[in-house]
Amino acid sequence: MTDTVRVRFAPSPTGPLHIGGIRTALYNYLFSRRSNGTFILRIEDTDQNRFVEGTEKYISEALQWCGIIPDEGPGYGGEYGPYRQSERKSIYKDYALQLIEKSNAYYAFDTPEELDQMREKLKAAKVSALHYNAITRTKMRNSLTLSEAEVKELLDSGQPYVIRMKVPQKEEIRFKDLIRGWVMVQSSTLDDKIIMKSDGMPTYHLANIVDDHLMKISHVIRGEEWLPSAPLHVLLYRLLGWEESQPEFAHLPLLLKPNGIGKLSKRDSEKHGYPIFPLEWNDSQTGEKFLGFREEGYLKEAFVNFMALLGWNPGGEQEIFSMNELINLFSLERIGKSGAKFDIEKAKWFNQQFLKAKPDKELAQYLIQSLKADNISCDQEKAIGISQLLKERITFIHELKEKGLFFLVAPQTYDEDMVSKKWHKTAVEVLEVYKQAIAQLETFSYKNLHAKLEEVLEKAEQKPGVLMPVLRLSLTGSGSGPDLMGIMETLGREETVNRIDHAISKLSDKIKVP
Ligand code: GLU
Repeated sequence: MTDTVRVRFAPSPTGPLHIGGIRTALYNYLFSRRSNGTFILRIEDTDQNRFVEGTEKYISEALQWCGIIPDEGPGYGGEYGPYRQSERKSIYKDYALQLIEKSNAYYAFDTPEELDQMREKLKAAKVSALHYNAITRTKMRNSLTLSEAEVKELLDSGQPYVIRMKVPQKEEIRFKDLIRGWVMVQSSTLDDKIIMKSDGMPTYHLANIVDDHLMKISHVIRGEEWLPSAPLHVLLYRLLGWEESQPEFAHLPLLLKPNGIGKLSKRDSEKHGYPIFPLEWNDSQTGEKFLGFREEGYLKEAFVNFMALLGWNPGGEQEIFSMNELINLFSLERIGKSGAKFDIEKAKWFNQQFLKAKPDKELAQYLIQSLKADNISCDQEKAIGISQLLKERITFIHELKEKGLFFLVAPQTYDEDMVSKKWHKTAVEVLEVYKQAIAQLETFSYKNLHAKLEEVLEKAEQKPGVLMPVLRLSLTGSGSGPDLMGIMETLGREETVNRIDHAISKLSDKIKVP
């Protein structure tokens, strides 16, 4: 093992990646950056039956969005390519043949019917694991039971065959997982896995090991669902004579449903209406549509932060991290063994925190652009004012426009419930006095508006609870919203006064006399 860290993210293009998959990519990326190593994207597309059009593009786009940029991979260059397994087909066969030569693998000619018969026999004999293994292989049609001449004839005549690895009958296979510690498995519990299929394509196991070796992968960081395959992989390293360069393994904890029971699945997203995919995905075959964090309005920084803490934590109280901070703090040792619960409320909280921290200018720019799309113009100063007032009150950036629209378009209707509760004669009288007072303010500032409010209330011997609701109704049409002084300051004198006048005249017949 050299000291150079080379890690890979090796998705199969069988559909969009959900957050669990992209978390694997993120942890690989953080680990590579922390160790000044190399992060590789490898597309494992040997299983043509499960190929789903558009997945590779989706994966690349999702990685780009999150800022998880491969150093090597399809479209990214690198000295160890090609990085799509379907383009490496010719490489794998040689290794399968090498294994056969050393008697660590064999040809198997069994038909599907023969395999079924074998399983039926095992079932009848009450054998629980229906494996093709050191015992059953002796009864099957393969190059271990057939003569050399028979094998040659079958091969020459183009009979379909697979190549199986020859798992030793009794051997303890052990390896140390960096997250789980020692893992030990008896080879008698393993199957003689197919490593080359009858279509000449390698299976996942062979292609994965050969590529990890040829691409000089130092650490395999992947989801827990691959843990059962790891002993086979360790065995393959040994059978191929590559023990010395066997990578370290780290199997990441599962992502669990919000209630902690069972694996998170795309059905959870459908059921609860929240995203579990980084980007939206439209399944052209089934017509299904899955929500994406990006399209739902999550900031990529928040999404990355949320993902990073699903199974890993650096210790301490801090919860908000930039990508650079994550890189500096990341370590495999601090990844937990137990599953991590997916909690969309936490994702929203992260989004709020990142929104709050954004410079007002940036939010204002966004607001100006999104209003432009609706042909509403808004100058920079006003947009900054709106952003300042609203950023504490929104979870998603698109709410800036929804919640901020009243700053630009005066209310035409007024919350009826609030009107019937608060539009009292005294309240409207105090509102009129306040309006006149602020119309004459030397400077129409937050501080002065506030001072005037107190002054007017004191003179009228009224409580803020009388004036505030009617003032808010006049300015916004609704009963809740951001700070009123801030609203008036942002609206400016003329607009504030106009709105109050408009409300007083429009609601004149609604005044309640106590
Ligand atoms: N192609 C496998 C997958 O789809 C890769 C597993 C591994 O990283 O070894 O997740």
